[in-house]
Amino acid sequence: MATHNITLIRGDGIGPEIAEVTRKCIDATGISVEWDIQEAGIDIMETAGTPLPDSVIASIRKNKVAIKAPITTPVGTGFRSVNVAMRKELDLYACVRPCKSYDGVRSRFKNIDLVIVRENTEDLYAGIEFEKGTPEAAEIIGHIERLTQKQVRKDSGISIKPISVMGTERIVKYAFEYARKNKRKKVTAVHKANILKFSDGLFLEVSREVAKRYPDIEFEDRIVDNMCMQLVQKPELYDVLVLPNLYGDILSDLCAGLIGGLGVAPGANIGEKGALFEATHGSAPKYKGQNKVNPVALILSGVLMLRHIDEMEAADRLDQAVAEVIREGKDVTYDLKPNRNDPTAVGTREMGDAIIERMKADVKK
Ligand code: NAD
Repeated sequence: MATHNITLIRGDGIGPEIAEVTRKCIDATGISVEWDIQEAGIDIMETAGTPLPDSVIASIRKNKVAIKAPITTPVGTGFRSVNVAMRKELDLYACVRPCKSYDGVRSRFKNIDLVIVRENTEDLYAGIEFEKGTPEAAEIIGHIERLTQKQVRKDSGISIKPISVMGTERIVKYAFEYARKNKRKKVTAVHKANILKFSDGLFLEVSREVAKRYPDIEFEDRIVDNMCMQLVQKPELYDVLVLPNLYGDILSDLCAGLIGGLGVAPGANIGEKGALFEATHGSAPKYKGQNKVNPVALILSGVLMLRHIDEMEAADRLDQAVAEVIREGKDVTYDLKPNRNDPTAVGTREMGDAIIERMKADVKK
């Protein structure tokens, strides 16, 4: 049996608790993993002098596969976000968020099965901003007025939205390749090309070109506002959605809402140099150290990771065990009980143990 070298970043807040449970669940699938355990986040800032030591990035570069628990974004340290820094450093350009309904999770919607593929490196997240009232903002406003003969109010703040051919081509290609590998039927490109002709317009034009190379997969496009309405009215019409960064961010949370919330929403950030798997939710600091929160979003991120490293059988087994434990509704955390104060809710570790027991029982069947 081949051994996989995988980086495990324990994070902070509730991170270390859910990271430990996830590691145990993955080990219990029976695959062989050499874990390279790395620390990042606010808990190590004092000792390491930074929330993101170089060794973390070096480990991911070496192993090419990592799973990461949430990390708090420190306020007022000059560090924008460890999460964003990691995605930038490793050029993890595709953020993939499958949103699938699990029986037993309360939601207004049933049978949701959507995949969001979000561009992770450009758009309004490029970090090119000019603060109101600064000489730089005044200079930009001057340029805009000269070049476009349009007036911009002098007291404006400005954020730039670059969308490139290269960035769009690789994300749309990724969405189609994902669709093929995962036997999906359709890719929908989401945009606002009717208004933003040169950024979203480019995104749409390049999407159409890329789609021609995948005649086996259906392609269509939707304007983002219409897409939001369609997703809450008839989500069953959609399959894989590919979006620029900002719309991808917003629709990821909308789709997490369709399946019953953050506790069960996994994710992955993928690039040529590596892949980083992480839950959609954050570090929920108020629950730190209480053995209380739901470990499922990170465990399901582990399922995505197992598929990425072609351990399909282990992935299916873990996914099925999670689905069964949630469906049964007994050994689940407070957020999956009908009443959040239900005294029969179990802790993070106990829910992990129930999933492992279920995997063992399924193997015996
Ligand atoms: P959050 O996701 O931590 O919490 C939002 C709400 O969801 C809270 O009420 C929390 O209690 C609940 N929640 C979150 N995860 C849960 C779980 N597993 N089980 C049960 N309930 C859960 O979002 P926030 O409060 O906005 O952010 C807290 C910190 O996390 C911030 O510093 C933020 O920057 C960071 N963050 C990190 C990541 C990441 O590491 N990728 C992602 C989002 C936010």
